[in-house]
Amino acid sequence: MEIFWTIVVSLLGICFGSFLNSVIFRAQANIPMKGRSKCMKCMKPIHWVDNVPIISFFNLHGRCRNCSSVISWQYPVIEMVTGIIFGLLFIRALFGFGFAGFEDQSEWLIIFVRDAIVACFLLIIFVYDYKYSIIMDRFSIPPIIIALLANLWLGADPTWTLLAGLLIGSFFAFQLIVSKGKWVGSGDVRVGLLMGVLLGVKSGIVALLISYILGAICGIFLIAFKHRKPDSHVPFGTFMAISIIITLFFGQAIADWYLGMM
Ligand SMILES: [Zn+2]
Repeated sequence: MEIFWTIVVSLLGICFGSFLNSVIFRAQANIPMKGRSKCMKCMKPIHWVDNVPIISFFNLHGRCRNCSSVISWQYPVIEMVTGIIFGLLFIRALFGFGFAGFEDQSEWLIIFVRDAIVACFLLIIFVYDYKYSIIMDRFSIPPIIIALLANLWLGADPTWTLLAGLLIGSFFAFQLIVSKGKWVGSGDVRVGLLMGVLLGVKSGIVALLISYILGAICGIFLIAFKHRKPDSHVPFGTFMAISIIITLFFGQAIADWYLGMM
């Protein structure tokens, strides 16, 4: 039965991924979230047969049926990644792997819902900050509220949860003030707040370190292979989004390993 439900949840994740693509596109193009999906080039509404997540992209060889314009790889990739993340979060919640600070495993459904919703917002932040170098409030503030409410529901200490958020958020706020917005943006401060509120102090700091390691690795690659200037903009929200998702799965293990070494 566990396998059956994991497959169901993964398929649900793929559908959510399709919805996230639509949210990202409509937010950028400033189109309201109602009405049928259209091709971005010829504006022809997409028939449901051509709008099946993942399958339609390959069926159409990545091109619009009407005008043959290229459909971005972002679409099937985000759909697949969302499906995989949902499946893994479900398995982790079901079997109680690596929870940061929660002992009571009967609360697994709340943990799954919390992480699945937050992961959706993080995937939007990941794509949006990478493509457009901005983290919109409507994508960064709701997950903070959801993470906070879910963690309080799960019995986390309110003071410590807020302190963890303020600790990491103010780390970015400090850089924002010192650099007058050159190093980080106000969106990064909010994602920092999310990092702390969702993960707590210990795992939050782990996520912070991972995002800097990822940022440094990508920065070196970009400068080395693409002749990018060292002072060009780095979409740090993209790295924070990945590191929060990594930490959701491995934060406890990484923190234990690191503290064990010391
Ligand atoms: Zn078209």
